[in-house]
Amino acid sequence: MDSSSIIRKTAADQRVTPNFLDYAAERQRFSWGAVGRELQGVAQAGGGINIAAEAVERHASGALRDKTAFRFLSRGKPARDVSFGELSRLTSRFANVLSQLGIDRGERVFVLAGRIPELYVAVLGGLKHGAVVSPLFSAFGPEPIATRVNLGAGRVLVTSDMLYERKVAKWRDKMPTLDHVLLLAEDGGSTNIPGTLDLATLMAAAGDTSEVAATGAEDMSLLHFTSGTTGTPKGAVHVHGAVITHFATGRYALDLHADDIYWCTADPGWVTGTSYGIIAPLLHGVTSIIDSEEFDAERWYGLLQDEGVTVWYTAPTAVRMLMKAGAAIPRKYRFPQLRFIASVGEPLNPEAVRWGKEVLGLPIHDNWWQTETGGIMIANTPAFDIKPGSMGRPLPGIDAAIMRRHEDGTATLIEEPDVEGELALKRGWPSMFRAYLNNEERYRKCFAGPNNEWYLTGDLAKRDADGYFWFVGRADDVIKSAGHLIGPFEVESALMEHPAVAEAGVIGKPDPVVGEVVKAFVSLKKGFEESEALRMELLGHARKRLGAAVAPKEIAFLPSLPRTRSGKIMRRLLKARELGLPEGDTSTLEGNA
Ligand code: AMP
Repeated sequence: MDSSSIIRKTAADQRVTPNFLDYAAERQRFSWGAVGRELQGVAQAGGGINIAAEAVERHASGALRDKTAFRFLSRGKPARDVSFGELSRLTSRFANVLSQLGIDRGERVFVLAGRIPELYVAVLGGLKHGAVVSPLFSAFGPEPIATRVNLGAGRVLVTSDMLYERKVAKWRDKMPTLDHVLLLAEDGGSTNIPGTLDLATLMAAAGDTSEVAATGAEDMSLLHFTSGTTGTPKGAVHVHGAVITHFATGRYALDLHADDIYWCTADPGWVTGTSYGIIAPLLHGVTSIIDSEEFDAERWYGLLQDEGVTVWYTAPTAVRMLMKAGAAIPRKYRFPQLRFIASVGEPLNPEAVRWGKEVLGLPIHDNWWQTETGGIMIANTPAFDIKPGSMGRPLPGIDAAIMRRHEDGTATLIEEPDVEGELALKRGWPSMFRAYLNNEERYRKCFAGPNNEWYLTGDLAKRDADGYFWFVGRADDVIKSAGHLIGPFEVESALMEHPAVAEAGVIGKPDPVVGEVVKAFVSLKKGFEESEALRMELLGHARKRLGAAVAPKEIAFLPSLPRTRSGKIMRRLLKARELGLPEGDTSTLEGNA
């Protein structure tokens, strides 16, 4: 890269002294054990550790008891501030509700809600109780919800009356493990829907103190679903010991300081919104603002200014939407408190990094991680210069490499710089996923290389001579739309349920703002004719089943879809044809000699 485009870090850029300044020395000095000892949990007898104890109780019983942990914002309503002390009481109430319902440690509690206080209380209260919590994105439709609840054997679902009626009620008998549905009333009152319980009533009746479950570092804490190319979503199993990674990365990649006002724009239905929208800021005793509204450029600049946000963690799609909204809006606002911006989830274009500097006065620090890693692995940090377009360098405690995967499943390390291969991470960081739920084979296949100690991420990347990593693309067919990972198989399956559809193939079509949009190609069964009306009907069908976050935005008809001789739809070919690119190797294409 042209060295003039590097964004140099100078002392004048740093409004507070960063948590670390010497990357090489910090990597050398670093040990996970030492970070763990900073948190009280690992010091407990037997290595006991619980995320909620570290995030909430540690502060609620100390000097931060009355400090605001979360400030919940919603259009047209006054802000609702919840202190660490109140969060402790509310989460205890929720833990007691679970006890009364007979929910044991390790049993699964699903939460489907917008970014409202009850969601945060249920996640942390569930963890305190020792239950396994799985937050679901509220823009999912009924099918993705039911699929995940069933895969995870959910016993409890916490949701709102409106979401329940729209997305769950009709599918309830398809979720046989679900014993209890706890509802909160969106209008703030109480609910009275047959087959459900009113959360507010249960909370009011429960005691506001509880013992934190004596979980160990390897006990399961969170279940986050992620998508692969084929098959059902994969449940990535996380453990309570992951909290050590959340703490360390909050320090290094987000530069959290105790007096920060922090805003993570991610929804807890995705892993960023849990690890960094709930856990990491609490661990650092930081005040977070949480906005229940959807993206709105004017509102977002207003929040950055009026709430005095100091550290902002957002996503490339959001940055591109702000860029698209134009330069006139930010000119109406001032951001003197803002001192650090980071982004994650998809490639961050170099123009976006520079836009940050021009419009907000700060560059944007891209970082990389995924559901399976549980926490940030590679990042641009305050400690070194930014090469716009690069994801940065591995954080202290993380060893990353580029590997070549071979046909037989083995993999070798690529030592030379600037060579493309699969991004891999060396086992041993505390937040690494411990399993794909009920799918040992799939989990095992993720590890290869010397001593089988490298986790292969499914991303293609390069490392340059300075140790910076550059994202190249995905090694598989999953789609990233507005930062959300979408499995083509899940979309194809929903389309196939429509009586007119014979086959469906789904791709990510590049889009300048959201990265990729979901596009489906379908061929029709005999007796059905292509028409605009049918296209609209299919779009509506998919949206109803899958929800707006997952459904295709475009559908095109084809007489038949390209398949391999073994019968697999060749999404790669559909994509190449859509983009007018060379078709590559088509030797396995059905019909080819
Ligand atoms: P998820 O598991 O939903 O968080 O998605 C993880 C995937 O998002 C990664 O495997 C990458 O493909 C992509 N991703 C995350 N962060 C970045 C980044 N900084 N640059 C490019 N792609 C990213």
